[in-house]
Formats: sequence, C-alpha cells, structure tokens
Amino acid sequence: MNHPVEHYVGRFAPSPSGPLHAGSLVAAMASYLDAKAHDGRWLLRMEDIDEARSAAGAAADIVHTLAALGMQWDGPIRVQSESLPDYQAACARLDGLVYPCGCTRREIADSGVGIAADGAAIYPGTCRAGLAPGKIARALRVRVPDAGTASEFIQFEDRWLGRQSQYLAREAGDFVLKRADGYWAYQLAVVVDDALQGVTHVVRGADLLESTARQIYLQRLLGYPVPVYLHVPLVCTADGEKLSKQHGAQALDLQQPLPELQRAAGFLGLGTLPATSVADFWPQAQQAWLQRLQQQR
Ligand code: GLU
Repeated sequence: MNHPVEHYVGRFAPSPSGPLHAGSLVAAMASYLDAKAHDGRWLLRMEDIDEARSAAGAAADIVHTLAALGMQWDGPIRVQSESLPDYQAACARLDGLVYPCGCTRREIADSGVGIAADGAAIYPGTCRAGLAPGKIARALRVRVPDAGTASEFIQFEDRWLGRQSQYLAREAGDFVLKRADGYWAYQLAVVVDDALQGVTHVVRGADLLESTARQIYLQRLLGYPVPVYLHVPLVCTADGEKLSKQHGAQALDLQQPLPELQRAAGFLGLGTLPATSVADFWPQAQQAWLQRLQQQR
C-alpha cells in the first residue's frame, strides 16, 4: 500500500457536538498522517448536518485545536449545513430507488426482522410499494437489492482491517436518506461530500466500519468513485464504550499539546516518539505511521 499514490485527497470530518477529545484526536491524527505520508491533501469538513446535535462554538473550537496541535488542513472547510442543495440534488438523482416511509421507530423495531450491523432494527419494507394506508410520509429511504441477489453483497479491502463484506439486504436493509426530523442522513451527506471534495482515501474510526457498505452502495448508484478505506481502532472507556462527550471525554489540554499527541500516537501503535516539540513530532509520527502500516499488512 505504501507505494506512492499519484493523487491522494484525505479528510477529517468531525461532528461538532463538542470539543476534540482523545478519541477524535486519534481519527484526526490517523487521517492527517496518512495524507502527509502520501504527499496528499488533507481536507477538513464540519459534519453539522444534525443541527440539533451540534454545540455552539464547537466547530470553531475544533478548528482552533487542530491548528494548536500543528495540523494544517488544505483549502476551505466544507460545512454540511451550508451544503444542503447538494444533498437534495443527489437524492433527486436516485429517483425510482427512493421512497417515502411512514413507519415509526417502534413499528420497525416491533416488526422483528432483525438487528442491523450498526445496532438499529432492519427495515421490514412496509412502505416499499407505497405508503401503507393512513400513514404520512416521515422519512425517505433508499431501496437496497433484494436478499439473495448478487448485488446485495458489498465487499471492500480495508487497509487496516483487511477484507470486509456486508449483505446489504440482510445486514442493513433499506436505509434512511432523509430523516423524519427533516435532516439529511449522515450516509447520504458523507457520500456526497466525499465525492464533491474529491476524497480518494477515507481514514476514520472503526465505529463507521458498518456504514461503509451502504456508502459504497450509494457511490455506485450515484456514479461516484469509491474511495479507499482505512478504519482505525476506537479509543474506549474502561467499560468498553466508545470514548465520546456523552461518556465523559475531556477536552484536550492545549497547554500541553505534546503529551496529547504522544498519547494518540501510542494508541495508534506508533510507539514512543523522541520528539521534544510539536514541530518535531509530526515528521517522526509520519515515518512511524508508514512503518506501522507495513506491519499491519
Ligand atoms: N462525522 C463523523 C464522526 O465524527 C465522521 C464521519 C466520517 O468520517 O465518515 O464520527
């Protein structure tokens, strides 16, 4: 994998629901190091599509933190809440495969079709052939190929985790593109953004591994190139939860940036780097990242 990549565009795409913490720094660092190690561009995108979950000031705080940690992004920052017409246009291109759905979360859970790989209940297909009588359209869903068909099967090579696959109908089901609360869904927004930003390499946390097959499916439907994926392990709390603001993650200590960077590098298996300053840290970490990827294979 470490032969030179002719054209590399990577990105970091935080959801500004709070300040950057030790878990999000790992994803930021991995995507940054991979881009730099391949002489690529590293873009920044604010995933504030779910405005209800976005915290005031968090986007500015993340931008400030990245800069303070010595991570410089290329080009303008893409902001999802300012890109709504792009999601609308992409959804319109899926006409014929997208249908309105009037089912509530409870109805879907009660249908007992099964639990998707991401923990949500699999949609039983109730509104596939038209809204059931008496129902009002709440969300928009995209149809996935039927169970048992060859096109249901999505496979990709993860650069960290190796070959991954998912049976879309059986493990995900028809999924939401526009949510009942009116927001565009993450799956659609991320695919449109990655394509419009020309992203060739996605490096992100393993909590998104289960989303990748659905994203590849949308990329194929929309005629977008499929990026190369790498999912890094998640930083977890002592009781095994993903480290997040809800699970007590602290903001990074910008008075002491080097130990924060060293901790994230250690978590990525880059060892203890001898750097004594933030400026020294990055070239050493880049080198260690390339070596780490070689071991991973
Ligand atoms: N916004 C997502 C998050 O912060 C990341 C999306 C992605 O990298 O595809 O978890």
